[in-house]
Amino acid sequence: MQIVSQILFVIALLAGVGFFARNIKRLIRNIKLGREIDRTDNSGERFAKMARIALGQSKMVKRPVSGFLHIIVYVGFIIINIEVLEIVIDGIFGTHRIFSFLGGTYDVLIASFEIFAFLVFVGVVIFWIRRNALNIYRFLGRELKGWPKNDANYILYFEMVLMALFLIMNATDYQLQLNGADHYASEAGIMGSFPVSQFLLPLFDGMSNATLIIIERAAWWLHILGILFFLNYLYYSKHLHILLAFPNVYFSKLSLQGKFDNLESVQKEVALMMDPNADPFAAPAEGEEDAEPEKFGASDVFDLNQVQLLNSYTCTECGRCTSECPANQTGKKLSPRKIMMDTRDRLEEVGENITKNGKFEDDGKQLLDNYILREELWACTTCNACVEACPVGIDPLSIILDMRRYLVMEQSAAPNELSIAMTNIENNGAPWPYNQMDRLNWAKEN
Ligand code: SF4
Ligand code: SF4
Repeated sequence: MQIVSQILFVIALLAGVGFFARNIKRLIRNIKLGREIDRTDNSGERFAKMARIALGQSKMVKRPVSGFLHIIVYVGFIIINIEVLEIVIDGIFGTHRIFSFLGGTYDVLIASFEIFAFLVFVGVVIFWIRRNALNIYRFLGRELKGWPKNDANYILYFEMVLMALFLIMNATDYQLQLNGADHYASEAGIMGSFPVSQFLLPLFDGMSNATLIIIERAAWWLHILGILFFLNYLYYSKHLHILLAFPNVYFSKLSLQGKFDNLESVQKEVALMMDPNADPFAAPAEGEEDAEPEKFGASDVFDLNQVQLLNSYTCTECGRCTSECPANQTGKKLSPRKIMMDTRDRLEEVGENITKNGKFEDDGKQLLDNYILREELWACTTCNACVEACPVGIDPLSIILDMRRYLVMEQSAAPNELSIAMTNIENNGAPWPYNQMDRLNWAKEN
């Protein structure tokens, strides 16, 4: 019987890890559909930023309530997963609490797992209340209707169940050890310390060892199968940020946040227009790209760079960006969170197309218009507040700007007010409808 259980465990483990590896391969393939961008410079600074923002959660705590709760859930999640290592070894080799040879250290570990499991449970319940019972503005956006709202709740339910299973598993195990049951009890005494699950013991009062073993095994199996399921659910969920927040912050922009990326070829044209002494045949400076790109800006995910696509998969849908966005606050259609969610949805659509057809078959759709509307793009004030607010280093503004660049440079489709200003710049070298030599006329006395 024990060997059957071990074989089943190994099969479940291989299936869970194998499916996860397949999803990660797809994720990397999809991100690589984007344009290449070199963000390998300043590795020391990048590691420090990653340690501060992704590991240290420095931006999360700017909102103390959710930040504090998130840290509890995050730290608890990491620490409790050390326990998974023991479960995996026990499952493969049929042992029981293999790490108990650590003695007092083991007791401290199990006790801390239990305390964190309890805190995570409480934290998740508060998260659920905030998300569902309190009218918090950033959880009410139109882009959160349907699957995104359900997804957020499913994960909360899931974490509650996982923590409950963990505590039930420990409580029954503890009772079986107290009862001296075969395979559970050890001559060395009680293995582990159970500061939380000991309070569950009255639930199992009067049960036979056989019944306790059934409950303990059921909780053990459901706990580990739940973790394998969770691992694979990540790909379909905003909770992918658990993994991607780290590379996402690492590859985020290091230059000043408000600094726009220039197209060298365009910059040269403007310089020639503004500077009558400029040499139109001058060779490009070293490292400068002189060739015109095939396409200006972005109308679909293929035109975005790989970091922007990684951004879209990393978005936690927390809405901190949208709640800081002045366009959104004044009732405009723009929500930077939606920009990221739309980018991810389109990327997933393209990825499924490739999986089905072996290569991308034109589906007559694109990110622009089919997902993100022009009205949304032109509502942006480029204030950068969304980038500043994002706790995982996402840059929705860069996508907005690339799509605007496409509209202006490929389609001449800017709003009328902008078109007039741009024509004036072209004709007069200034945004006003008169020669720049006349710009101080207003100060002349009549
Ligand atoms: S940069 Fe644009 S999208 Fe971001 S907060 Fe400002 S207005 Fe909103
Ligand atoms: S872009 Fe950042 S701030 Fe905005 S919803 Fe996504 S994770 Fe949150």
